Amino acid sequence: MTIEPPEAERSLWQIDQIRDLQERLRAFRATCRVTTLTEVQSSTRSPFHLLVSCVISLRTKDEVTHDASRRLFRLANTPAELAALDLEAIASAIYPAGFYNTKAAQLRQIGALLVEDHGGEVPGDEAALLELPGVGRKTANLVLGLGFGIPAICVDTHVHRISNRLGMVATKNPDATEKALQSVLSKDLWIDINDLLVTFGQNRCHPTSPRCTGCPLDDLCPRIGVTRHR
Ligand code: SF4
Repeated sequence: MTIEPPEAERSLWQIDQIRDLQERLRAFRATCRVTTLTEVQSSTRSPFHLLVSCVISLRTKDEVTHDASRRLFRLANTPAELAALDLEAIASAIYPAGFYNTKAAQLRQIGALLVEDHGGEVPGDEAALLELPGVGRKTANLVLGLGFGIPAICVDTHVHRISNRLGMVATKNPDATEKALQSVLSKDLWIDINDLLVTFGQNRCHPTSPRCTGCPLDDLCPRIGVTRHR
């Protein structure tokens, strides 16, 4: 005989709440500019372009990533073309992205490694992605999810911050957030949650002073850790 847990202990309530959250975030996203990484994915359908833009995006504003990616793609559209560029050419194409000199070296090495070890293709495999210079869990998961359609949760600063503010998780770092969200979210949301929360973080739930007045999530959000808001 199956013993049903008491109503309050069922996870169904959380699932319903998360579906509600998802619908509100999607409605909000429809009013915003498309994020650079989503635009790169939809315009190129290429894991390589996505990987390059993701490396450029680390610690860099979205608009800067957009323009830097476009300039670099005018010079190189394949791993072989990227590996053949001068470091200075890559650095000046992606400037003023954060750490542009370091990223230029990483990007050229990534191009070379993709040619040498992966037949000029981006591997759809987490371990292989993590071996590439400048690629951590965030980038690997983004490429797996958006580039290959493999369920993976890309936790960047927006996903980590907002998941904690909403009380979906209670974690200290992005790796712990990724693990916790894997339990909270059904797999069909793993890929999209990044773009939903990045768009929301860029336009409403800002790091230092979120715009809580009029927020579409106001009645769902306990504002955990929020000390100042508008
Ligand atoms: S109510 Fe404030 S803290 Fe909560 S999601 Fe909205 S903007 Fe963020």
